[in-house]
Amino acid sequence: MRTFLFVGNLKMNLLSQDEAEQYLSVLKREMQGKTFENTLGILCPPAVYLHLFESLPSGIVSGAQNASFEKNGPYTGEISPVMLKSDGIEYVILGHSERRVHFGETDEMVKRKVDAALKYLLQPIVCIGESETERKRQETVSVLEKQVRSVFAGLSKLQAEKIILAYEPRWAIGTDLLPTTTEIFEVRVLLRKILTELFDGATAERIRILYGGSVKSAFLHAVSFDAEMDGVLVGRESLFPYEVVKMMSLFEENAKQEV
Ligand code: PEP
Repeated sequence: MRTFLFVGNLKMNLLSQDEAEQYLSVLKREMQGKTFENTLGILCPPAVYLHLFESLPSGIVSGAQNASFEKNGPYTGEISPVMLKSDGIEYVILGHSERRVHFGETDEMVKRKVDAALKYLLQPIVCIGESETERKRQETVSVLEKQVRSVFAGLSKLQAEKIILAYEPRWAIGTDLLPTTTEIFEVRVLLRKILTELFDGATAERIRILYGGSVKSAFLHAVSFDAEMDGVLVGRESLFPYEVVKMMSLFEENAKQEV
């Protein structure tokens, strides 16, 4: 049975240790009495709070929002994938569009980060997606194809299976705009086709593909189950523990119905 993934990207929010602790205590309260067999929550707080997020309720683990492409050395402000691993972190978001837009991350840099994360045994959650201009120019397919081929270049099947892809159309992030279920499903089909060409059908099936961009619990069916995605990457709504638990519960219910 598939495990659905709920990835919460808390971005540069929760402005003090008190706020982070408050978030965690509400989350723990909301999680009380809930068990998740087929759903995994991955919450990615700002790096300074990763130590607080070590004690998450069962069913949720913490992840990082970024990692360097180097192991160590003169890279001021960066966090090594080795440091994350030694802190017990398993997952790291890479290539988020905000990193690409505000910090100049290119496909080449994202690829170096993916390779470094895999080398040090982290599971990369790699964000891909077209901009509004690219969408208007009907370049979505070529942009996604270029990004995916770059991410997976030179990887073995076993390495490829560790990667979680998050399709996040840039124009849908933080905007309350959403693609249709059909558009998301078409992207899923496209990505599976490319991955099958690069590896094989079984490997392509094992690589999880998430949708991200203005997700709310009310739209979960449309952007995930109906579009046959393996979960969601959520920004703003993940700042509300109630919504985190609600979406995880909806995934769990859906998984039970799939049996
Ligand atoms: C994101 O940060 O990846 C994201 C999808 O944000 P939001 O849910 O706020 O659109």
